[in-house]
Amino acid sequence: MARARKIVVVSNRGPYRRERRQWVRSAGGLVAALHPMLSSRGGCWISAKHAQNFGTVEDEPDVAYELADVRISPKLQEGFYMGVSNAIIWPLLHSFPATMHVADAPWDKYVTANEKFAEVTAANSKPNDLIWVQDYHLMLVPGMLREKRRRARIGWFCHVPWPPWSLFGILPWREQILEGLLGSDVIGFHTREYVDHFLDCVDRYTDYPVDRVRGTVRLKRRTVRVMPAPIGCSVERLSELSAADDVAEECAAIKADLAGRRVLLGVDRLDYTKGIPERIRAFKRLLDADPALREEVVFLQIMVPSRTDVAAYAELKEQIDQLVGEVNGRHGTTGRVPMQYFYRNFGQRSLFAHYQAADVAVVTPLRDGMNLVAHEYVISRVKGDGVLVLSEFAGAAAFLDDAVQVNPYDIDGIADAIQRSLDMPMREQKRRMKKLQSEVQALDVHRWADDYLKALEHG
Ligand code: UDP
Repeated sequence: MARARKIVVVSNRGPYRRERRQWVRSAGGLVAALHPMLSSRGGCWISAKHAQNFGTVEDEPDVAYELADVRISPKLQEGFYMGVSNAIIWPLLHSFPATMHVADAPWDKYVTANEKFAEVTAANSKPNDLIWVQDYHLMLVPGMLREKRRRARIGWFCHVPWPPWSLFGILPWREQILEGLLGSDVIGFHTREYVDHFLDCVDRYTDYPVDRVRGTVRLKRRTVRVMPAPIGCSVERLSELSAADDVAEECAAIKADLAGRRVLLGVDRLDYTKGIPERIRAFKRLLDADPALREEVVFLQIMVPSRTDVAAYAELKEQIDQLVGEVNGRHGTTGRVPMQYFYRNFGQRSLFAHYQAADVAVVTPLRDGMNLVAHEYVISRVKGDGVLVLSEFAGAAAFLDDAVQVNPYDIDGIADAIQRSLDMPMREQKRRMKKLQSEVQALDVHRWADDYLKALEHG
């Protein structure tokens, strides 16, 4: 029997991070998908190691696969991660060109860091292995690896959106990035729309022929497949969590504290792509129009601190503080405020208790690759009720037809959608939620990893 090929995952962030002398599993969809897959199939995970961990940490996290580090010095991190990945590539791929400062970008640091990842990957893999590079930090790695390994099977997956060619074209290094990505055999995006945008970019900025029907790009000696591969969550594990007694108990406690008020919920990393100020303004507009609502509903907003050392994120936090203050200043009564927000990371059990307490989840990013919060809310609804308000600019909107979809820039539109959701009869809630649940189940994360690896292995 042919031996299964070794899988080598390459990502900027590794599966574990060091916190108070302990190893803690990293959060997020990527690790939730790839850690179980590598644990059962074996392989290697290559990720960045930062200066504070050089030499000081002798032990390794206890995992059933190999780990390899790419040493990134503070100076390199500053340019590669902060200066280019976070400050330029992230806003660009999310269609926020206004927040970018391309002119002084330390692009050379991005190139150097990608070279380091490619070197460590080459040193830790054999010609027959399946190499799976993740996300926008490492767009040059497939091309660099291809130079070292003509016959390797290399994949790249984009966890964020891909913008139209006219936006992508702003980047002075657009051709270099496309050449880097086309070092892959298989390129995956969450949605068909992102695939089409990417193929438009290849068509516009390279000479390689594009076959849109097949989703392929023809190079001299190879054909690159570009395919939609939507990520989901770990459906079985999260369904079990949703059925757990302790989660139901915490949900009951939350509801008791809120004394019968109906619950609107937002859950986001604090990021300017998530549309949090627009959402708060929409809630304020609802209360301004109908002040009696303040006795009947409460908006809970969970915000997870993110990129706190970047000025734009600190400013956004201030803006949100101010907006929440305005809502509560105008509509709060003694002992009762209509908007409560939490600025910290919740554990998954507690997060699911909040999902279960929420009559309406308001998921309104201005742009989002997929958005797993939308999936998780749907899975948590074990009683089959609840309404999902969803931005039409989240990747999830391409799959979740029975959400109440909104334009996240349209404050009146969000306010209307919230009102409609609060008024939605139970029969309609259940009808929609049932369909949403089967749509979310079809996007299981383990299926995502299996399907992608099959495509990578067999072409
Ligand atoms: N999350 C969490 N704790 C929190 C809030 C969110 O663990 O307090 C998780 C949530 O369960 C989800 C992820 O953070 O899996 C957010 O993923 P999403 O795709 O919605 O957005 P991203 O942060 O990746 O842009």
